[in-house]
Amino acid sequence: AKAWALKKHFDGLPKASDLELITTELPNLKDGQLLLESVFLSVDPYMRPYSQRDMKEGDIMVGTQVARIVESKNPAFTAGTFVVARGGWRTHFISDGKDLLLLPSGWPESLPKSVALGTVGMPGLTAYFGLLEICKIKPGETVLVNAAAGAVGSVVGQIAKIGGCKVVGSTGSDDKVAYLKSIGFDEAFNYKTVASLDEALRKASPDGYDCFFDNVGGEFSSVAIHQMKMFGRIVVCGAVSQYNNTVPQKGTFVQFPIVFKQLRMEGFIVTNWYNRQEEALKALLKWVVEGKLKFHEHITEGFENMPMAFIGLFKGENLGKAIVKV
Ligand code: NDP
Repeated sequence: AKAWALKKHFDGLPKASDLELITTELPNLKDGQLLLESVFLSVDPYMRPYSQRDMKEGDIMVGTQVARIVESKNPAFTAGTFVVARGGWRTHFISDGKDLLLLPSGWPESLPKSVALGTVGMPGLTAYFGLLEICKIKPGETVLVNAAAGAVGSVVGQIAKIGGCKVVGSTGSDDKVAYLKSIGFDEAFNYKTVASLDEALRKASPDGYDCFFDNVGGEFSSVAIHQMKMFGRIVVCGAVSQYNNTVPQKGTFVQFPIVFKQLRMEGFIVTNWYNRQEEALKALLKWVVEGKLKFHEHITEGFENMPMAFIGLFKGENLGKAIVKV
């Protein structure tokens, strides 16, 4: 079996040389265990801060994959079944079956199983709970989302449209702007080329924003929070612009609009909502099957290219969900 280990803690933007491809021997299966083979692996921005906080050098990178059961000594699972597993960056691994998740029932044969790592998986759940439970969107409201063409952002915008909202998205290339318009965003702009972020946000919604789904943090948030409407809600989902900072960025102050517009700002972690994941995955899958929720995948071929796919997240190389196909 092959695996990617953290050779050296990242310093700034991750480098391929910070990771090491290693070969491991897997022991024979014991009763209750299964042997799994990764088919699609997910690379996600959270792996960057997670590695810093929760991993030591030499550990295998954390992560989720769609895997096929090669051999089973666990009566609850049969060989050949595909599952979503938290096996880390490994080609093969052994599980006791406890944290394996079957694909939601009714998964169409024509739908790639990799979507269980994106729109009908963790990023989709993040969009679903963040928007419906934290922002609590209402029809007619205006929703702003950044990193809008990514795995979470693209689902946020489309669920907001399903919910009857006006949606504004910010992203890092003109192609991504065109993609956002093609999937129903009312307004979208390239934050890298606008002369003024403040003006771009004002132009996209002169009346301001009821809900701001923040994936990026940093300067973008400092500017956007000033354009919230009265009683607006800000869901702090991520801060991808900050993950590679070696010195924490100190920003402009946002307390003034928060007080006087009586805004609510709330951070959340999707796993805290996993007691309701069955219901949410069912809804996400239904929307995908009905064509109401479009998905795009950025697929990198080859397990040896995991580092490249991961680093690409911080350069905006992915449109939609970044996936590695073994
Ligand atoms: P994406 O698919 O959106 O990939 C990351 C994207 O972020 C890139 O494509 C790039 O798009 C953008 N980006 C990268 N660096 C910067 C930067 N310096 N400034 C602005 N944009 C940048 O990833 P996900 O959808 O998986 O994750 C989006 C966010 O949601 C992340 O912050 C992640 O940590 C967070 N998250 C939080 C969860 C939670 O439970 N709270 C769960 C899952 C994700 P572009 O071309 O637009 O710049």
